[in-house]
Amino acid sequence: MPLKKYIRDIQDFPKPGIGFKDITPLLLNPIARKETLHLLISNLKDKQINKVIGVESRGFFFGILIAEELNAGFIPVRKPKKLPFDTISASYDLEYGTDTLEIHIDAIQKGDKVLIHDDVLATGGTAKAVCELVERLGGEIVQCNFLMELSFLNGREKIAGKPIFSAITY
Ligand code: IMP
Repeated sequence: MPLKKYIRDIQDFPKPGIGFKDITPLLLNPIARKETLHLLISNLKDKQINKVIGVESRGFFFGILIAEELNAGFIPVRKPKKLPFDTISASYDLEYGTDTLEIHIDAIQKGDKVLIHDDVLATGGTAKAVCELVERLGGEIVQCNFLMELSFLNGREKIAGKPIFSAITY
């Protein structure tokens, strides 16, 4: 099934000049959604992954489904001041300014085998910050896993050395 059919391009969202890839048509279709999940976990069996991170907020959708398939724990990585317990944080540069992500300090134990999932790999700043959080807590990053990769933005370079998988590439 050509999954790109279920990704909608929205021009000038959230700001003028930006082309936004909208996954809501894919979420709406149970067959496309199931096939996407199947692709996302296709090379993850036998990797002993015991924790799956979903990055706020669109990384939560498939993140929790992947965790269920792998029988692994699920960890939300969130924007500042959303997580109620003690956190550590990592900041990354945006085109204008910076952004920050947080994780609970007890979410990962040393030696945990961690999958990082997000909907989009664009410039790679988000993924790099999440990798930093995982490594500071002593987790081992088994794979950075994305529904879509916007390859023309070279996000891979920011997380070079980490195994990367994308179900759909533009
Ligand atoms: P990066 O940090 O530049 O790699 O951007 C990745 C983050 O921005 C992810 O958490 C995505 O949810 C979000 N993002 C960037 N571009 C898009 C898009 O076209 N559609 C949906 N989310 C996007």
